[in-house]
Amino acid sequence: AKGAGRNRYSFFTPALQEAALTRARLATDLRFALGAQQFHLLYQPIVELATGAVYKAEALIRWQHPERGVVSPAAFIPIAETSGLIVEIGDWVFAQAARQVQQWRQSVHPQFQISINSSPVQFQHARTQSETWVQRLQTQGLPGECLTVEITEGVLLDSNAGVTAKLLEWRDAGIQVALDDFGTGYSSLSYLQKFDIDFIKIDQSFVRDLHAQSTNFTLCKAMVAMAHALGLQVVAEGVETAEQRDLLLQAGCDYAQGYWFARPMPAEALVDWVAARA
Ligand code: C2E
Ligand code: CA
Ligand code: CA
Ligand code: CA
Repeated sequence: AKGAGRNRYSFFTPALQEAALTRARLATDLRFALGAQQFHLLYQPIVELATGAVYKAEALIRWQHPERGVVSPAAFIPIAETSGLIVEIGDWVFAQAARQVQQWRQSVHPQFQISINSSPVQFQHARTQSETWVQRLQTQGLPGECLTVEITEGVLLDSNAGVTAKLLEWRDAGIQVALDDFGTGYSSLSYLQKFDIDFIKIDQSFVRDLHAQSTNFTLCKAMVAMAHALGLQVVAEGVETAEQRDLLLQAGCDYAQGYWFARPMPAEALVDWVAARA
């Protein structure tokens, strides 16, 4: 037993050290990434289930690290949140998406809408941020409707006057709000109305084991019915099979995204992808 304990100890410690070192190095590198133009956005099409039409996409950030290659947001967003860099990164994402949606409103669909992800930390900083977003859209001559901000319920849970003010300001400007990862936390119905949410995004964990007889199918139907009763629309994420797509349509789900339709792709590829579907 003693030997096993020692083995376990010697096995885990270097791994943990390595993880901590990686994190520390990533944190250092991250400070230069924005200035060195190492970020780019991929776009995943969001499909209207009833018609197959595509006039929405979610922007997903990637970090092209000079030595490590592409670093996933799951690995660096938490670090950016801790350091506060997420505020600058979030502004960059917004600016990129705003430029892109302007282009796609001309070349793909006049009502094209891009969803951007936002971190709770972005809400703690600066009322000014939302003002600049709204102002920047106005400066570009873009309606608020061209943008959806995806938030997680953490934002609503530690709601303070700042969060409420920002959400109201966005609403007044026409920017829509989606509640991401819906069903995974303590999402309460009262939040959906109190904060005037426009979309819920059914989390991939409900879509993964979706079969006609499954509990997940029952849950998806219930979430859709509830959302619709409250006047919200529903997006399902992580759709990987035709069966999942069919069941979500049957459940009354409005939109879906996932590898079954398309993986997140560079902006240049999206116009052709939409054209090829039509
Ligand atoms: P999320 O917002 O829940 O995004 C969905 C994730 O599922 C994305 O991972 C997407 O690439 C992936 N995905 C899409 N379709 C499928 C599918 O059919 N099957 C499976 N297994 N996965 C699918 P990604 O791009 O690695 O992003 C991970 C998370 O990082 C996102 O989760 C989001 O929370 C965060 N994130 C991404 N971009 C940004 C950003 O610009 N700002 C902030 N604050 N967070 C971001
Ligand atoms: Ca999202
Ligand atoms: Ca999600
Ligand atoms: Ca997520």
